[in-house]
Amino acid sequence: MTSAFAIRDDDTSYFTSPDELDAVYAPYWGKIPVSLATVPFSVPEHRGRSFNNRYPPDAEMPLGENKPLVEWLKEKIRLGHVEIMLHGYNHLYQQINGRWIGEYGWKSVQQLLEETARGKAYLEQLLEAEIKVFVPPSNTIGKAGIRTIRHAGLNLSGIMGRGGDRPWTRDYPAAYLKRWGWRLFKGEAYPYPLALGGVKELRAYALTPRANVDDLMRSLKSCATIQAPFIIATHYWEFRDSPSMHETLSMLIDQARKTGFVFTQVSHCFNRL
Ligand SMILES: [Zn+2]
Repeated sequence: MTSAFAIRDDDTSYFTSPDELDAVYAPYWGKIPVSLATVPFSVPEHRGRSFNNRYPPDAEMPLGENKPLVEWLKEKIRLGHVEIMLHGYNHLYQQINGRWIGEYGWKSVQQLLEETARGKAYLEQLLEAEIKVFVPPSNTIGKAGIRTIRHAGLNLSGIMGRGGDRPWTRDYPAAYLKRWGWRLFKGEAYPYPLALGGVKELRAYALTPRANVDDLMRSLKSCATIQAPFIIATHYWEFRDSPSMHETLSMLIDQARKTGFVFTQVSHCFNRL
């Protein structure tokens, strides 16, 4: 038995250039697939920070209008180096009681149903790729958002929270016990794909500028021992100002290789190897 190792990189959009993705992943193309959580109609401003302040903060920019990126992505997909996942619709935040909330935490179910279907179909047609996984912007998803991705048949890169953050289904109590029982006895979030409401949910491990490298290495070793998948979740744009993230990523990959992980796409981590 082996475990799967995958890279999830968030925020590819109209505002991304292939150079920015190459700056992080050039050493790995063709060796380790990269699953890109992609925003179909991104606004430039995320949580008050702008990817390009020549645009109004709420301008919805279709990915398709960035032709060099589209050509580059299609080639990478064709070669099997890149997988596309859906990362919201426009990644628009709303400030509620002083907190920035991601779009799948505040939009209505009607709006999310319509936008999820439109965003998924748009990317699939534009990039000639099938999308199987949803990555919530800001890792925030409420009941309406969950209903929406279930309707679209997308697995979730993320895992249920405390009581009541999922719509009621008959398999909810058993899934809840599994998820929180693991936390109680093992002190960690549930590490395997969790089937719930007709789709699966699976946690990822965050590589941010503030991530504790020892904790990540410990989690990786623990996943090897218990044969759980290990998805490292990161943002290409954070590497620019935090070059030590390159070393951390490379250390994790080396360790994964030594421990016998199989390098694969995020969508494959939802199936037990
Ligand atoms: Zn994002």
